[in-house]
Amino acid sequence: MEIKKGIAVSPGISIAKSLIIDSEDYRIPRRLIKSSQRMVEIQRTRNAFKDAIGELTQLEAAHDRSGGGKIKDIFAVHLRFLHDRSLRKKVTDLVHAESVTAEYAVSTVLREIASHFAKEKDAYMSERAADIYDIERRLLKQLLGKKREDVGHLTEEVVIVARELSPTQTAGFDRKYVKGIASDAGGRTSHAAIVARSLGIPAVVALEDLTEYTSGGDIVIVDGNRGIVIVNPDDQTIRQYEEYSKEFAELEHRLDEIRQEPAVTRDGTEITLLGNIEFPNEAEVVLEKGGAGIGLYRTEFLYLNTESEPTEQDHYEAYAETVRVFADRPVVIRTLDLGADKYTQSKRFAPEPNPFLGLRSIRFCLQNLTLFKKQLRAILRVSVLGEVKIMFPLITNRQELMQAKMILHDVMEDLDEESIPYNRNIQVGIMIETPSAALTAYSLASDVDFFSIGTNDLTQYTLAVDRGNELVSMLYSTVDPAVLRLIRNVIQDAHKAQIDLSVCGEMASEPEYIMLLMGLGVRTISIASPMIPEIKQIIRSVTIEYCNKVARKVLGMDSERQISAYLRNAARKILPEAF
Ligand code: PEP
Ligand code: MG
Repeated sequence: MEIKKGIAVSPGISIAKSLIIDSEDYRIPRRLIKSSQRMVEIQRTRNAFKDAIGELTQLEAAHDRSGGGKIKDIFAVHLRFLHDRSLRKKVTDLVHAESVTAEYAVSTVLREIASHFAKEKDAYMSERAADIYDIERRLLKQLLGKKREDVGHLTEEVVIVARELSPTQTAGFDRKYVKGIASDAGGRTSHAAIVARSLGIPAVVALEDLTEYTSGGDIVIVDGNRGIVIVNPDDQTIRQYEEYSKEFAELEHRLDEIRQEPAVTRDGTEITLLGNIEFPNEAEVVLEKGGAGIGLYRTEFLYLNTESEPTEQDHYEAYAETVRVFADRPVVIRTLDLGADKYTQSKRFAPEPNPFLGLRSIRFCLQNLTLFKKQLRAILRVSVLGEVKIMFPLITNRQELMQAKMILHDVMEDLDEESIPYNRNIQVGIMIETPSAALTAYSLASDVDFFSIGTNDLTQYTLAVDRGNELVSMLYSTVDPAVLRLIRNVIQDAHKAQIDLSVCGEMASEPEYIMLLMGLGVRTISIASPMIPEIKQIIRSVTIEYCNKVARKVLGMDSERQISAYLRNAARKILPEAF
């Protein structure tokens, strides 16, 4: 039995057999082999190369006949790699030297080569990394053959164990079979974690070396409440967890009963409780859980799972599906936040050196106007169906905001010319998720209808801590005094300017932090749907007077530790079962 402590990112308990996946969804058994088996693995490697060459030669010939010039060239490049004897030797040498399986050796060697290419400054060379990954996939397909477990087509319940998961992979998991997630890497607000929470799959991240201790098929317990993962638990531990899991399910069930009750404090202050979604079909869940609309629709997920770019109609249909669920309630559609850890399929192998500080989000949109305008057209078209609002992410200065608004007006004019109806008075807001936006909030407020504080990024950029990096996760805290001061300023500026304000970062879904936010003056929050009942319960259990006291007390503290401990205690008193 191996007990590992990580960061709890999605609540709940799961017990199931592990399925280990690497970053390309292929299952790579990492078991060592007996030395007597090495020749068998070496022969398997040779066969895989031979069969991959055979497959590619056939594909090349087929494209030759159909005149597919460019694709044929790609196949030729891949064939050259596969014919390279030194590459094959590297793989077989690894099998021999370290007694590992053929698939493990292929993956290790090719990934190492790919990472060398990716680091090349020359764009042509760095793009070759994608070719190497393709070759790796082709070889693994040969090696794993029927043994390959496609995560998209599971037939039994599993706990996914991985070194690192991308938001795209996580979004593709089938809730019916994926019962838990445990990864070596990641942070509380990394996008893969956010998606796990939205899907309601218990998850623990930042387990550092869990994959070293787990083999495919091991029984794994994921305790998404306490951030614990247990590999090969003994019978007594399994029984304890089964009991705990039952108690937790009962608590959830009890909380669900208040879902149609209003989110009002005991002394009558109403909080608007909205839901965050990544996919249109989540809107129904938000409604079921008692959300009063959508406060953050992360539309970039429309791009992540497909090889081809979504059309304007694809955008329109996804938004319309959401808006129909909340016909007369607000639906805040955030424009694309691509980049950083959310890459489209075509860009995933060409990462920037500092992606979170790079061509991300609104910056990416302002440099890709065709793509941006396509989305804006769809949002405007859908605005006649309900109370749709537009929100621009990662604004850092006024000029950026004015540029984005100018493009929105261009798109409005285009629609006017084509006599396509839209809501002319559509509300336009921005996310406050950079220190620069927080510090200049008062000036930005004069050009928008609302602010939504993105505490995930605001924390990352204020503290200079990568939100997804487990090595620095202990430094990442939304209740650091520096972050709290910025949040307080933004709230005050929004009130002064008389514009709407909400908080849509994960901070608002933390039972420990909600009282503080309310005490700071927040009256609208948007959170992942599974958290709605619990947060509502807290809101209904407190008075705003008490929240004000909590906020006053916290603002007088100058240490993150002190603040965290104080808030944990305060929340524990209100909802002891949840802690
Ligand atoms: C945030 O940064 O707090 C936010 C809500 O946006 P995202 O998590 O999608 O970056
Ligand atoms: Mg953000």
